[in-house]
Amino acid sequence: MKHNVYLFQCQYAIEVREINNYYLPYSIGCILAYAQQHNDIRDNFNFPELFFKREDPAEVIKRLDNPVICGFSNYVWNEQYHLVLIKEIRKAYPKCKIVFGGPQVGQDNVDNGDCDVWIQQEGERNFVNALRDWKEFVIKPTYSGERIDDLDELPSPYLTGVFDDIIEQHPECLFSMTLETNRGCPFMCTFCDWGSLTYAKIKKHNLEKVISELDWAIRKPIGYIWVADANFGVFKTRDLAIAHMINYACEHEDSRIDAVNVQYYKNSTENAVEIAKVIGKKYNRGITISVQSMTDVVLTAIKRDNMEMNDMSTLLAQTRKADVLAYSEVILPLPEETCDSFKESLCRLLEFGQHTAIEMWKAQVLKNSEMGTPEHIEKYGIETVAVEDYSYYHNPVDWNGVHEKINIICATNTISNTEVTEAYMYGWMIINLHTQGYIQILARYCREVLNVSYREFYDKVFKELAEGKTIISDAFRFTKQFEEAYMERGRLATQEEMADWGGLVIDNLGGHFTAQMALSTVFNNKEDVYDIGEKVANSFGDIDPSIIEANRSSLACINRMSVGIHGARTVEVNEEEWEQGYHIETAYDLETFEKQQTTYHVKPSIPLKIIKDAGKWHHRRQGFKNIFIKKAT
Ligand code: SF4
Repeated sequence: MKHNVYLFQCQYAIEVREINNYYLPYSIGCILAYAQQHNDIRDNFNFPELFFKREDPAEVIKRLDNPVICGFSNYVWNEQYHLVLIKEIRKAYPKCKIVFGGPQVGQDNVDNGDCDVWIQQEGERNFVNALRDWKEFVIKPTYSGERIDDLDELPSPYLTGVFDDIIEQHPECLFSMTLETNRGCPFMCTFCDWGSLTYAKIKKHNLEKVISELDWAIRKPIGYIWVADANFGVFKTRDLAIAHMINYACEHEDSRIDAVNVQYYKNSTENAVEIAKVIGKKYNRGITISVQSMTDVVLTAIKRDNMEMNDMSTLLAQTRKADVLAYSEVILPLPEETCDSFKESLCRLLEFGQHTAIEMWKAQVLKNSEMGTPEHIEKYGIETVAVEDYSYYHNPVDWNGVHEKINIICATNTISNTEVTEAYMYGWMIINLHTQGYIQILARYCREVLNVSYREFYDKVFKELAEGKTIISDAFRFTKQFEEAYMERGRLATQEEMADWGGLVIDNLGGHFTAQMALSTVFNNKEDVYDIGEKVANSFGDIDPSIIEANRSSLACINRMSVGIHGARTVEVNEEEWEQGYHIETAYDLETFEKQQTTYHVKPSIPLKIIKDAGKWHHRRQGFKNIFIKKAT
């Protein structure tokens, strides 16, 4: 008689263009593909279903048939849901063994009875060993083996048909594919749990296997590829070849892939730029210049100072020349960061020429990261708050009976709770008003022509926002209040609570997206933002009238925008104006700010076709900025 084993890697549905998207559950898929190649496992065990959605636990239980083992791949986005499921499974099948794997698992899960077995590090061999031991009645509480040196022993879950049932049973869905071309990361950033799982040495998957997986993706309902490598581009020639194949897969007439996400090798932006060009601007959101902080003492504390930070302005200039979007990520608050040094970090990014995209993350203390060890917590005075719904995708198809939780740093011995919120709001201002374009031309003019640092300029804007009487200041204070309440109570404010704060009810998008909550308010009141920018700029000296006019052309001319679920934007567009744009004359070159009479063709950065194709959705980072195309003289 064969015994039933079920695997779970459950996730939120993400609605893109009115179609529900799910990741094919890669981790449990790899385990199943590996397990099924062993005769003794096939002879003794059945794997009737892979669970990948957040479904009503009562419905899930109905589909289980006397399970002997249920295995869970846990992370911050599914742990709480899995714990609810496990309670139900234990009630219905008390003898079933619960096995945990994934980065978000530790000895405490065994000790407190969440699971019976904890699989450390790579899951494939360890899970098979656990199944064999179960058969012999000697299953252990912990499995931790040698690292898998030869990745050729791992069959592809795509090519072995592990996901075929899921795809066939969900014809209404699109799927995201995890493409793993190598495993491991040579860096040891203290906030990350990747290194603890896969060690420092990078092991490669066979190139033919990677190419066959991409070929598979062309013929399946795959809409998105997430390249799971920590450092894509580290093997330049090989990764360039893979990038060509990714582009081929995207361009293929049978393909439905329209976006690819890659984490690039940190030490060579040159490689990243070349690869991003090959994958294609249409599919790749750009390259990350992951700084996390620009403060030396912080970089030392998080062990990122070993990365070769080449001259960032040169790197950013390269990306502009290659027409590749470069975005920078910062994390708040990392050990040793202060409120002032965080503000300075953001302004230094602008000084280096990062005017396009900055992403701000809250510092999460991940269970198996070095930053989460008692020594680090004590050394840096790390205080955390367990927050719900940090990355929450409100989707009515998901079962929403439980909130996911993560531990976020709310204070350290160099920054207090109040200062964390202040620093966060400074980030809100830089992201919303500078990189989204509202007052960027004024700030850059003040920097280049009047020699006013970005820090001086934005400190004054910050004061205006905090103390002003306009709706923009209301939106600023509202977001601050929302953020303070989130960090204090660990949950998102309800619509009723928001209504009590002055009636400015805005969609709450999840803790990570607080910085975007007031997007539509800012956009729909952009004249107020221009006024604030002009008031501050004028306080530093005379501003050329053509610069004021150019700055007032920064955002696309559309009637209204509204922001809905997880940043989806609805806009009313005058199609003719959108396509044709208009011309302006400036007394300065808007890139170099040299005095030079220049004519610009001003038009929205997003082609009308993309807005129309995307329906109510488009990529959040692009905003509704206008672009200024210089007319040849
Ligand atoms: S943050 Fe990136 S570079 Fe640093 S250890 Fe983690 S995966 Fe490696």
